[in-house]
Amino acid sequence: MKAAVLFKVNEPLQVVDVELDPPKAGEVRVKMKAAGVCQSDWHMINGDWPSPLPLVPGHEAAGIIDAVGDGVTTVKPGDHVIFSFRPQCGQCRYCSAGRPVLCIGRNNTPGTTLFDGTLRLKHKGTGLNQMARIGTFSEQVVVPAEMVVPIRKDMPWPQAALVGCCVATGVGAVTRHAKIEAGSTVLVIGCGGVGLNIIQGAVLSGARKIIAADLRDNKLEMARTFGATDTINTTGEKVVEQIKALTGGLGVDYAFDAVSIDKTQALAIDAICPGGRAVTVGVPPLTMRATYSPFAMVFGEKVVSGTFYGSVRPSVDFPVLVDHYMNKRLNLDGLISRTYTLEQINDGFKAMMGGEVARGVVVFD
Ligand SMILES: [Zn+2]
Ligand SMILES: [Zn+2]
Repeated sequence: MKAAVLFKVNEPLQVVDVELDPPKAGEVRVKMKAAGVCQSDWHMINGDWPSPLPLVPGHEAAGIIDAVGDGVTTVKPGDHVIFSFRPQCGQCRYCSAGRPVLCIGRNNTPGTTLFDGTLRLKHKGTGLNQMARIGTFSEQVVVPAEMVVPIRKDMPWPQAALVGCCVATGVGAVTRHAKIEAGSTVLVIGCGGVGLNIIQGAVLSGARKIIAADLRDNKLEMARTFGATDTINTTGEKVVEQIKALTGGLGVDYAFDAVSIDKTQALAIDAICPGGRAVTVGVPPLTMRATYSPFAMVFGEKVVSGTFYGSVRPSVDFPVLVDHYMNKRLNLDGLISRTYTLEQINDGFKAMMGGEVARGVVVFD
């Protein structure tokens, strides 16, 4: 079997032959069917997020349970599953409070190993780390059972894969984290895989106006097909004034930043109305800093918050998102611009960084 491996930062992934040890207690082996190519994988490849190497990246995926270790009761061989990239121990203060994204129950081992601190994938005898403990750019993986969520079997694979990262993150930011009121006005900064799903979350929640902002006109055209009512190219002049002009002079009720760099953070905070909320959704490089105006925060009672993974509860929310797609309330087909074989994976990153695609997905046999 093969996996795409990062041996050195800033070098292309190498698709190599690997061996896989069987699942231990509490673990499952999954045969991969589809895995999305995400900006977060790129952060690992270019060293923005330092990680032990060698590493198999990939964290947005779906597959079939092939074998289960002792004590696994949540899934069985033949089940279709979507991977979650966060553990959920079910016991810690955050899991108990329904916030598994913040789970602290599995912090005793590095985040690239199984829970016992060892590795199952090997290349010529050397253990391969798995991004977020799952590492889905591999034909098969062994992962903790709590990191897969069973779904209905009529869900197509590439669409199922996307639910595990960009759909959960974007839709969840609106429906789970911000919980916007119907009739709200919304700004979405950045119209890639996550941004388009923020737009879809706003549509699902009954937003009155959804303003999409991006540097590229092709992304803005795509945003309209996902439900944006207005678009602004942020390379133009007076972007904040344009947003205020579209919202009765006050600014939007909610701004969602899918890019999360210094400039977009400033835009999000400046674009919200008094009493409005700016939500940071995209995951920035570790060392990024942003500035804001405390004056505007005080006199405008502005709120800034962050959401990781759309604040979802994977085992509850993934099946809901799957149903939304099957009931034609989420457009996931339109997100899949291209598919690749595992061997073509580096082309997938090139296309993503060139802004050519909403999402590229590696499809396995
Ligand atoms: Zn991702
Ligand atoms: Zn926990």
